[in-house]
Amino acid sequence: MTAPARTRFAPSPTGYLHLGHAFSALVAAGTAERLGGEMLLRIENIDQGRCRPEFESAIHEDLTWLGLTWPTPVRRQSDHFADYAAALAQLDAAQVLYPCFCTRAEIRTEIARSPTAPHGPDGPIYPGTCRNLGATDVADRKARGDAFALRLNCIKAIGLVGDDLFFEDAMQGRHAADPTKFGDVVLARKDTPTSYHLAVTVDDHLQGITCVPRGADLFEATHVHCLLQRLLGFSTPYYAHHRLIADANGQRYAKRDQAATLRDMRSQGLTPEDVRALLPPLP
Ligand code: GLU
Repeated sequence: MTAPARTRFAPSPTGYLHLGHAFSALVAAGTAERLGGEMLLRIENIDQGRCRPEFESAIHEDLTWLGLTWPTPVRRQSDHFADYAAALAQLDAAQVLYPCFCTRAEIRTEIARSPTAPHGPDGPIYPGTCRNLGATDVADRKARGDAFALRLNCIKAIGLVGDDLFFEDAMQGRHAADPTKFGDVVLARKDTPTSYHLAVTVDDHLQGITCVPRGADLFEATHVHCLLQRLLGFSTPYYAHHRLIADANGQRYAKRDQAATLRDMRSQGLTPEDVRALLPPLP
């Protein structure tokens, strides 16, 4: 990885930050500091139904308490839907998107019908029901007002950019990317005009992120991000996926484990140094 590095910590304000987030944020800040760069904070709040303003202000408070700083203004994804729309327009022009009218129930039924339905890292892969809908069908359903998501035609997309996709990762070294394990991912949802995969790819590019530190639970998602970067003409940043922090029972922290939130630790009188001492050494 080249210095100076620009890293980011990109939480979603859907709950209070816990020890796992603290570790991610400290890895991002530590990597930037080591390489003479900076860490940006990004608020990933496209899921407007689950994000709450009090969680967003808590992110700022808890990270500041932990001793971290970042440049302002902070990018909030909900302020940038136009950027995601521009990326979708570019992908549409490349003819790698298609509208998908399926409901979750229809997808479940379709998958249940085929005992050999392939599974990916996030569960069964979309069976492709809407992939080859004719133009008239699509026009009729749109005219009827049927809601639709936009999916990436993965095979067509790989056909366009080639299959020599790879990324460099701190844990795994050079790693071949195989986006087919996720199938035709959603890039714009029925209720939100983007998706995690698209927003994170566009933001990392627009913010000039050179190193993406994040939990190992997102390692597989990088396969899709690599393909999107190639399609959109973006360079692929260096990835520093890190181990997930587990509690005393070996379970990884989740937002529902209120006991491990930084806020609760603070109210119990713990100091930022106590929190750091609970974490493994930074990679
Ligand atoms: N917003 C995601 C989360 O809170 C992190 C996304 C990323 O780092 O790529 O889990």
